[in-house]
Amino acid sequence: MFALDAIHGTRVAYSQSRSKRPHKPKNCLFCPGAEHLTPPATLVLPGAKNWRVRCFPNKFPVVESPNGFHEVIVETAGHDAWEDFPESQLALVFQAYQNRFRALLENKNAKYVLLFKNFGDKSGASIDHEHAQILSFPFIPKLVQSELHAGPSTFKKMLKQPAVLESEHFKAVCPPVSRFPWETWILSNDENLRFEDMNEKQGLEFMLVLREIIRKIKTLSWDYTVAFHVAPKNKKLWFHVEVLPRKAVWGGVELGAGVIVNFKKPRDALRDLRSA
Ligand SMILES: [Zn+2]
Ligand SMILES: [Zn+2]
Repeated sequence: MFALDAIHGTRVAYSQSRSKRPHKPKNCLFCPGAEHLTPPATLVLPGAKNWRVRCFPNKFPVVESPNGFHEVIVETAGHDAWEDFPESQLALVFQAYQNRFRALLENKNAKYVLLFKNFGDKSGASIDHEHAQILSFPFIPKLVQSELHAGPSTFKKMLKQPAVLESEHFKAVCPPVSRFPWETWILSNDENLRFEDMNEKQGLEFMLVLREIIRKIKTLSWDYTVAFHVAPKNKKLWFHVEVLPRKAVWGGVELGAGVIVNFKKPRDALRDLRSA
């Protein structure tokens, strides 16, 4: 269940099972051969035999049916790093992201589906094997609400920032005000692009930009979180993905005042990222 902290406008998901998650188990739970230790798969690519991407319900969910669904997307069969994935692997991972996104969105209680990825100890990742997670909410989360409220003009302005790198249809920039050192957003040039409608070619183009940003971020920060901000059902939101390096630990100023201290100005972050 989601409780509303009415004073701060924040939702709280109480989940006892989260504390039971294994932390860095000696025998990896996400490797081939350990399939029986996870719930049955919801999607396996390219097929059950010699799979390269495997999706299944999270054994320790933040949210449970009928309030929502929480799945794990294991992004590779081995212990190779995201930034080393070949194009064929990126294509499968994108296919899985999109497939599970559509599936979770279909549920009538789902108002928002969040696709995200944690990497490294400081991001809260409890298993090293590369994986993403997808979670549906029976409401539109506060961060997304504020982005809907900010409107397309904010994103147009964002696109005018100098590029960390760009492809034909996507641009990676440092936001004019960043909360995290080397924070990078990848935006589509087209405000009407919808994640669920992207074709294979657009998907791969996007994944190649993300791969290069992750490669750069890992040389600067190591730990990171990636959050896909996709338009809610029947609403418009400029498609963007936030790559949030987790080098800094939030302390008293952040928690006591809600003011974020960032040691890296966007201008300097841009220079570092370009040369990383
Ligand atoms: Zn593994
Ligand atoms: Zn966003």
